[in-house]
Amino acid sequence: MQMFYNDLKERERLIAESRPEDLCCHSCGRLFAPSWDHLEGQWGYPEITDSGICRQCRKLQHIRQNMETCLKHAGVPPKYLHCSFENFQVMDENRMCVNACGHYLSHPRPDFPGLYLYENCGTGKTHLAAAIVRKLLLKGKQVVFTCVPRLCFEIKKAFHNNCKVTEQDAIQAYVSCEYLVLDDLGVEKPTEWVKKTLGYIIYERDNMFKPTIITSNLSLDEMSHQVDHRIASRIAGMGPVVRVQGPDWRLKQYLS
Ligand SMILES: [Zn+2]
Repeated sequence: MQMFYNDLKERERLIAESRPEDLCCHSCGRLFAPSWDHLEGQWGYPEITDSGICRQCRKLQHIRQNMETCLKHAGVPPKYLHCSFENFQVMDENRMCVNACGHYLSHPRPDFPGLYLYENCGTGKTHLAAAIVRKLLLKGKQVVFTCVPRLCFEIKKAFHNNCKVTEQDAIQAYVSCEYLVLDDLGVEKPTEWVKKTLGYIIYERDNMFKPTIITSNLSLDEMSHQVDHRIASRIAGMGPVVRVQGPDWRLKQYLS
């Protein structure tokens, strides 16, 4: 028994002696410690891929190379797949808003993680929201982009008998995702069921400090009167409220 123990100690010493240096990811430069692979009987770097970059960098590379698919998968509609900050028309009227979106992305506040963008139709709210999704995906975040009608449709689908997903599961998916982008909130007068469901998702996310990004035609004052004052006051406490401003581009294009 003692001999076996000594053998084991000796083996451990030899393994420790043969430990190679930490390995650097070629992309981000982070160092990764080796770990002993008991099956292979050798040192390895499970966090470093065959191409010499770490798993996180490999994941981000995959996202960059397949951005359109990732945006579609996140729920961004085809019309907005091309939208980025680079191709957003910045003018004096909306410069503050674009800066606010940039600041939101570069200085995340865990205690104040929401963002509310509002303005009349056609001022580029959805473009900005899609551009934010693109940036978040590039940071490796998990994002769900949806609008209220689609969210309700997905949850109601679960009412049908043959559906394997229950209503609660469908709602939970919106509660638990890392980032939720709700486009065009308040565009139509919500039913009691919509208010209740939406309220639940927003409250739950707020209680867990989960970032929710909302675009709307309504100011929070208008939201309070036309949708629900509790939802509006909850949103006000979740993060910055930013007016997009700028001329109405849909109208401008139509008139030119
Ligand atoms: Zn890396």
